[in-house]
Amino acid sequence: MVAYMEHKDLANEVISRERAGQIRDGVHRVQEQIALAEAAAGRPKGSVQLLAATKTRDVAEIMAAIDAGIRFIGENRPQEVSAKAEGLERQCFERGLVWNPLDAEDGEGVTMHLIGQLQSNKISKIIDPVDTVESVDSLSLAQKLSRRMDARDQYVNVYLEVNESGEEAKSGCLPQEAEELAYQLAAMPGLKLRGLMTVGAHVDDERVIRAGFAHLRQLRDAIRSSGEPGTDQCSELSMGMTGDLALAIAEGSTLVRVGTAIFGERAFI
Ligand SMILES: *Cc1c(COP(=O)(O)O)cnc(C)c1O
Repeated sequence: MVAYMEHKDLANEVISRERAGQIRDGVHRVQEQIALAEAAAGRPKGSVQLLAATKTRDVAEIMAAIDAGIRFIGENRPQEVSAKAEGLERQCFERGLVWNPLDAEDGEGVTMHLIGQLQSNKISKIIDPVDTVESVDSLSLAQKLSRRMDARDQYVNVYLEVNESGEEAKSGCLPQEAEELAYQLAAMPGLKLRGLMTVGAHVDDERVIRAGFAHLRQLRDAIRSSGEPGTDQCSELSMGMTGDLALAIAEGSTLVRVGTAIFGERAFI
């Protein structure tokens, strides 16, 4: 049990108009930053999706973001997924939004990604609400997910998480292992390899941050053009957060994961 979950009711569905307005403004500000960064990089408008990173936020805060236009939400912890999924699904339904649409067009539905570490004993908590697991970083986790999905005759979308910065506290596989691991995941039943994910280096030097993002893009290009079984849909690059989203977009990000710039500082880690 994570300590802050005892302080805050994550299933709460009521917030003030003022708080909802802050969140709406945050979403719109980030959408503008994305549009500017797309233009600066010479990329088409709309080529970068915005995922709201919703750890420590309750159902009402997340619905305010959805009402402001968010269609992708990213949770870190299986316990939080369990606490919020029912309320989110019901509230989306009440608004006529499809929850976790498999083949819906953009804007028709809300999709939940898991962006935090997944222990294999928590797989059952996330398997129904989560559409995409962005944080697959080992062969053993991939095998467990694969077996579970295959036994249900279903599949889950996965990204391979790569620790581009090599910082020890971070999850993600080593960059030099990534390509081989991607080929193994891509060939597994019950998994669809959709892309790669990384967390930018925690440093001030922009060149170092950009180099990590650029390397992830090169890896994606190599994997997608490899001709290995199951790699042809490996197109997404999930990179860029509040502090480094413009750099990530300049290096080809297709999905930025933003928490603080939408919701404000987190009261709990
Ligand atoms: C919290 C988190 C984010 C968002 O971070 P902010 O700096 O608040 O935008 C993105 N990705 C992951 C994996 C996270 O844990």
